[in-house]
Amino acid sequence: MRWPDGVTCPYCAGKALSYLSTVRKWKCMNKTCHKQFSAKVGTVMEDSPIGLDKWLAAMWMIANDKNGISSYEIHRALDITQKSAWFLLHRIRLAMQNGTLEKMKGQVEADETYIGGLARNMHRSERGRKVKGTGGKGKVAVMGLLERDGKVRAKVIRDATSLILHAEVRGNVEPGAELFTDAWQGYSGLHQQFIHQVINHAEKYVDGQIHTNGIENFWSLLKRGIKGTYVSVEPFHLFRYLDEQTFRFNERKGKDADRFIKTVRQIAGKRLTFDELTGKKTCH
Ligand SMILES: [Zn+2]
Repeated sequence: MRWPDGVTCPYCAGKALSYLSTVRKWKCMNKTCHKQFSAKVGTVMEDSPIGLDKWLAAMWMIANDKNGISSYEIHRALDITQKSAWFLLHRIRLAMQNGTLEKMKGQVEADETYIGGLARNMHRSERGRKVKGTGGKGKVAVMGLLERDGKVRAKVIRDATSLILHAEVRGNVEPGAELFTDAWQGYSGLHQQFIHQVINHAEKYVDGQIHTNGIENFWSLLKRGIKGTYVSVEPFHLFRYLDEQTFRFNERKGKDADRFIKTVRQIAGKRLTFDELTGKKTCH
């Protein structure tokens, strides 16, 4: 699955290889290379002592469980430590990242939401507080864009000011597209580049085609997933949970096996070290 066009040496891109079945590795026959490699080299699985059987089982679980899988579930199901399970999950989430640079077209809904640093253990006074613009203490602002009949994109943003929101819309949506938002002032001024249609939630939620129900539906799935599975989501790691939920949402019409194969295919060429993951080193 990793090499749909035939196995290729990850060091020199050579195709002349010999398979060493006893160690399950290939040996490159290129005279200047001669390196040996397993299917894990050059992927998020490189340097991991955990076997492919467990990696693949974890990929199946994470690709297909609607509400997300916790590191505790992986730890119990695959008999590895919770810490290993946590690292493994984050590496798989990296593989699920949507790397497309294509802009969204047609009808696009834009909205932002706030996710609590401690979704379940939040103090009652904090719960349900939604302050537009800053989101309140300990909350992380997330911007979402949904192409109707297409895909969703979501990312952590610094704040929901027009400076940030305009940059996200312009960076992701083709000029001339129809843009649907609520009445938040951060979106005003976009009508020069887009056909901007506003639904004022103080009055109603749907006015024919004008609504943001698609992206709101994604927010509720995202929040249900976080509440049901994770005790807490640290702001630093939130973007990886977003990648995971976005992947499942965008692949929701496919079969379990399709989502699994797509996850496996995406692992090539991606790496993530423990230091990068825990913030000791900067990544991308
Ligand atoms: Zn080679």
